[in-house]
Amino acid sequence: MSRFFLALTLAALSATAQAPANSKTYESVDAVLWTQTSAEYQANARQVYVAARAALDRALATPRWVAALEANYVGAQPLPPAVILDLDETVLDNSAYRAQLAKAGQRFTEETWKKWVMESRAGLVPGAREFLLYARMRGVTIYYITNRECSGDASDPTRKNLQALGVPGALICRTGTSDKSPRRSEVAGMYHVLLLIGDDLNDFVTAATTPEARQKQMEQYGSLFGDRWFILPNAMYGSWDRFYGDDLSKKLSALKP
Ligand SMILES: [Mg+2]
Repeated sequence: MSRFFLALTLAALSATAQAPANSKTYESVDAVLWTQTSAEYQANARQVYVAARAALDRALATPRWVAALEANYVGAQPLPPAVILDLDETVLDNSAYRAQLAKAGQRFTEETWKKWVMESRAGLVPGAREFLLYARMRGVTIYYITNRECSGDASDPTRKNLQALGVPGALICRTGTSDKSPRRSEVAGMYHVLLLIGDDLNDFVTAATTPEARQKQMEQYGSLFGDRWFILPNAMYGSWDRFYGDDLSKKLSALKP
């Protein structure tokens, strides 16, 4: 090989090393790496669940403690207590799926997501199991309101995944709308909802779609967080990034230097 072609080959190899095949997914690598390898992610998640446990004790000792905005308990008979949690990145850790995408230079698709769900091998978010077992021990019913689709029978892959992880709770999966408010309302009609736990604003309130409108929602409801609403960190994805889509230039222009 001539020196000229050797130089060309080396230049091509170094370009490959610097820019992955699909550089559009490159920006998600740090988020997945943080979730999977950092002590800080684990500490964040544990901190949320320890605080939620203390809040559960306060809630059980406080009459008329209400977490769901959809609830209307004024003058109502006492109802049995319940907590509502989201599943993905709240109880179930799907970072391995996100890692597969990042390594392959692929974006999220319904097809690859469904395949991952069928494998029933999501892990547990740190601190979740301890909280859930404590809630059950205190006689609190646990509901998961998730936008996964489930069959409802014993062979359902999400149910199998939860069973294998040894966590209690009943599934309320997506049937029509992804908006969780009607399903929260359903639970609030039967139970006194003490806490909401999620990783996305939509797990608490129907989230607005622009960053400015979401900021206004935080001004309105922000004081509920850490009190009766508890949110897990999720830097990998969420309704917060839908506004920007896959448009890196839109994301860059939203940064405030
Ligand atoms: Mg989630």
